[in-house]
Amino acid sequence: MDLKHSRSVKLNDGNLMPVLGFGTFASKEIPKSKAAEATKVAIDVGFRHIDAAYFYQNEEEVGQALRDKMADGTVKREDLFYTTKIWITFLRPELVRQCLERSLKKLGLDYVDLCIIHIPIAMKPGEELLPKDANGKFIFDTVDIRDTWEALEKCKDAGLSKSIGVSNFNHKQLELILNKPRLKYKPTCNQVECHPYLNQSKLLEFCKSKDIVLVAYSALGSHRDSSWVSSDSPYLLEDPVLMTIAKKHNQTPGQVALRYQLQRGVVVLAKSFNEKRIKENFQVFDFELTPEDMKTIDSLNRNFRYSQMALCRHSSHGSKQSSMGTGVPIAGRALDHPDYPFLEEY
Ligand code: NAP
Repeated sequence: MDLKHSRSVKLNDGNLMPVLGFGTFASKEIPKSKAAEATKVAIDVGFRHIDAAYFYQNEEEVGQALRDKMADGTVKREDLFYTTKIWITFLRPELVRQCLERSLKKLGLDYVDLCIIHIPIAMKPGEELLPKDANGKFIFDTVDIRDTWEALEKCKDAGLSKSIGVSNFNHKQLELILNKPRLKYKPTCNQVECHPYLNQSKLLEFCKSKDIVLVAYSALGSHRDSSWVSSDSPYLLEDPVLMTIAKKHNQTPGQVALRYQLQRGVVVLAKSFNEKRIKENFQVFDFELTPEDMKTIDSLNRNFRYSQMALCRHSSHGSKQSSMGTGVPIAGRALDHPDYPFLEEY
């Protein structure tokens, strides 16, 4: 990543991805209109990469913001890089295109720049985003993720998404796709939680060796949404080491956390619905961390994951699952799902 000459990185399919992206996920309690307002501010201050998802349930508002900013002449469609994600109730191959088409309809766009598999833990298809059985246990599904990938390849061929990729995959799941017979397109990226407390150095090295871009989410210490993140999780931006480095460069800890990712060749997302912080988060191109700063920040790693994606904070524990054939709904905890990604070291 040559930050001096470009603010984009070339993906393995030839398309360009801006290295700094704007995140649009917010808790259910936040009015959806905030996502639209914030997205417009983000585009005004210079963000061109917008990260969104079917699951966030705000693509109508975000899409309206994009269309407003195109209509007022601030940007053209080709200046924007928009990412959406296939939700886990749509991982059966016959449902993948339907999920993407729903996003496009809400957005009012003909194509997205990137479409990624949100999480490799399939759930029972249907209108419920997180389906549960009568006992409150999540109802999972078993899908061969390689079949999901083939369906996504077809979406690229149909022109619905310029690039395709994955999210929350471990290196074995990436290898499964890379080694798939008749692979047509490699994943361009793997979007994962990544910050100084979980710096993903091994996964990053693996991704670089395969020409897959690692995209960091929760780079500022996460949204802390109580459905996904425990309230006793540490506050990354209050870390004394980050604060000292920030002070030395006359920047904020948030800017240091973002710059850290850019300098190690990671594309980074930053969510804020606050105008001042949105502006601040874009000001990361005119200072540089020293090699010593980078090493010091590397040393903060403690493999701490804000979001386990365990989905078990709402479900009962204890159900044992076996890996069944494709398309068999099973109830229980994500941790027991055969495709749960975070039990692997990386
Ligand atoms: P994040 O970017 O780590 O941080 C967001 C939190 O930090 C917000 O509470 C924000 O509050 C605050 N903040 C933002 N800038 C700040 C600054 N300069 N100083 C101090 N605080 C600041 O959030 P995230 O939502 O976990 O991750 C970012 C994006 O990644 C999401 O929006 C989403 O697009 C994507 N994501 C993807 C996945 C996945 O599974 N693929 C999972 C999680 C997230 P204010 O809004 O009040 O500023």
